[in-house]
Amino acid sequence: MADSIPLARPELAGREEELVLEVLRSGRLSLGPKLERFERDFASWLGSDDAVAVSSGTAGLHLAVRALGWGEGDEVLTTPLSFVASSNCLLYEGARPVFCDIDPVTLNIDPEAARAAAGRRTAGLLPVHIFGYPADLLALEAIADSLEVPILEDACQALGAVDAEGRAIGTAGHAASFAFYANKQLTTGEGGMLVPAGEEMSERLRSERNQGRSPDMSEIDHVGIGFNYRMTDIQAAIGIAQVERLDELLASRAEAAAAYTELLSQRLGAAPAGEGDPERLVLPCADRGDEQRSWFVYTVQLPADADRDAVIEALAAEGVQSKAYLPCIHTMPPYRERFGYSGGEFPVAEAVAARSLALPFFSQMTEGQVDRACTALAGALGSAS
Ligand SMILES: *Cc1c(COP(=O)(O)O)cnc(C)c1O
Repeated sequence: MADSIPLARPELAGREEELVLEVLRSGRLSLGPKLERFERDFASWLGSDDAVAVSSGTAGLHLAVRALGWGEGDEVLTTPLSFVASSNCLLYEGARPVFCDIDPVTLNIDPEAARAAAGRRTAGLLPVHIFGYPADLLALEAIADSLEVPILEDACQALGAVDAEGRAIGTAGHAASFAFYANKQLTTGEGGMLVPAGEEMSERLRSERNQGRSPDMSEIDHVGIGFNYRMTDIQAAIGIAQVERLDELLASRAEAAAAYTELLSQRLGAAPAGEGDPERLVLPCADRGDEQRSWFVYTVQLPADADRDAVIEALAAEGVQSKAYLPCIHTMPPYRERFGYSGGEFPVAEAVAARSLALPFFSQMTEGQVDRACTALAGALGSAS
């Protein structure tokens, strides 16, 4: 049998190696020139005033939650269909995630549900641009403005996405966190980048990622309690090389996604969310208006009557990796125990989570590999549904 097709794989080249070697030979492994350069290069690619590198996307979210002052007694409106970090970052500071159901097409937080869940204790909104599709920021900004509370964007899956106003995700003026784990659009192995909401926040973030030191490090004095959330210069070196060809990396991902959509439409009669029979195989939604998805994963919703575990097994037997992705956060044990959820609270998100399946997806995926994955899926659905 041909080689197994992995779920994800980073694209690293000679340039990454070259820059990492420079760091190793320089002896400046942390808080050196590569860190500053990565921050500048990233901000300039994105079009933001500033960017603060951290050790992970989760660390970025945590620092942003603190900088926004969300803590004990505060409620933050967010989505249950996300990677658990977008909600855990609130728990770290004693704030409470108030989940709101999602839009069945974009799979992002439904602004109507958010409006209905807003209350006296609402201290902010934390939308996640899930699967790289931009959340409805305009509607969410209207809610935030009327409540006079800030927004924190979990942009960890959405580097390169654009919202309905034509703004690159992360440049709308809210704090936003990006992540660079090995399956993300840009990787540094582990790492993250925060776009601060203003200069004052930048200073606080730079201090808190570094044990609360004064930003210029001129004194030994620690001006506050901080963390070690620093990114090393080795990671930053990889990041610099990745930013250099980020446009190509994103374009390759978009091509692989287009190939999937074409083949699955032709062979299985599937349609993008919102366009076909929702009981059949559903593909990621097409871009609406000026919105642009940045392709992070290729996640389908299996036909309503399909046995997902059986499909995953059948795909594995053909050398095609796949994964149930994502489970809802509120149905996970720590959230059930702490908040008393029993399932059934967010029917749209739960129905999507029950059917969604991530297929192999990475920038270097060939048409042949996409074809193999689609053939295997067609076979699996033929026998498993
Ligand atoms: C990847 C991811 C994170 C966290 O990133 P790490 O770098 O792994 O800490 C947070 N939120 C979402 C939605 C993610 O996909």
